[in-house]
Amino acid sequence: MFVTSSDLHAERLDKIMPVRGFCIGAPSSEDIDRFVKFINEELAPRNVNTLILRVDYNYRYKSHPELADPAGLTKEDVKKLVKACKENKIRIIPQVNLLGHQSWASKQGNLLKVYPEFDETPLVKFPEKYEWPNPDGLYCKSYCPLHPDVHKIVFEIVDEICDVFKADAFHAGMDEVFYIGEKQCPRCSGKDKAELFAGEVGTIRDHLALNGRKLWIWGDRLIDGKTTGIGEWEGSYNNTYRAIDMIPKDVMICDWHYERPDQTPVYFAMKGLDVVTCPWRNPSNAVLQAQDIVKFRNYSTKEMKDHFAGMVQTVWSGAGQFLDEYYGKTPEPDAKSPVSCFKALYNEIDKLAGSE
Ligand SMILES: [Zn+2]
Repeated sequence: MFVTSSDLHAERLDKIMPVRGFCIGAPSSEDIDRFVKFINEELAPRNVNTLILRVDYNYRYKSHPELADPAGLTKEDVKKLVKACKENKIRIIPQVNLLGHQSWASKQGNLLKVYPEFDETPLVKFPEKYEWPNPDGLYCKSYCPLHPDVHKIVFEIVDEICDVFKADAFHAGMDEVFYIGEKQCPRCSGKDKAELFAGEVGTIRDHLALNGRKLWIWGDRLIDGKTTGIGEWEGSYNNTYRAIDMIPKDVMICDWHYERPDQTPVYFAMKGLDVVTCPWRNPSNAVLQAQDIVKFRNYSTKEMKDHFAGMVQTVWSGAGQFLDEYYGKTPEPDAKSPVSCFKALYNEIDKLAGSE
């Protein structure tokens, strides 16, 4: 068989950086076609092989139309994304935020809007003008992981979105869970927050496993924010970090660090967990983080090496705004933008594969 130099390059990329990811809010219906163009012309040539799309309720769910955004993606929209990714050998992983991130500023998310009984903190009311910090410590609402009816509903959502995306993995979010095991919850109060967090990870993982699917989550709740100095966003100040020893070992950790190239992938790998490093908008850090993954893989035991799975570029605007910046329709905010970070990261990964 004739082997091309691009085949060899792809092989080297798989060796040094098995997961080469990109994570963004799922595009709106009207942006589908230009997002498909972006997949074909920008992600594929850079050998991106994993696309995490934050969908949440931006899909017209048949199982729970009461939760769906009315202008959400249709099945036909999703088919276009699935087709483009299949043609380019890109694995799509849909995300719906579970546990935390059930509200944003003063806006209730769809789940708690329709099912307020799932609210972990029903006594916390949304202020007219949201500010951080605030007396309630309100960042985002959480659902109560011990409510007896919550999983039936969210798992029907999870199953439907995984089916329509033909996904073999699902991202449950689970970052920045500030409300957990709260006093005002009759089920959770007084319970160990690490056990509550790990319990929810295990419940979601087990449900996905029934259909042969893997669970991906953000890693911040598993890092001790105080001792490490990493802080209460990229790390946990509410004692959930001990959950790292309680969660199943086949959960993929998306370890996001935006200010420094923290060496936390080693921590996850030493716990037997697969980990990907996630930069956002700091190109020079992203380059160092990519170099670190290669270095960790080179210098580790065979037991640990493959836990350093790769890199995922994260974008926290919607797809529409990102595409406007990418294609120069609106100016990039400054040198530290997800656009320049994405380009720098994938240049570096390419270089690293070339120099191996
Ligand atoms: Zn509760």
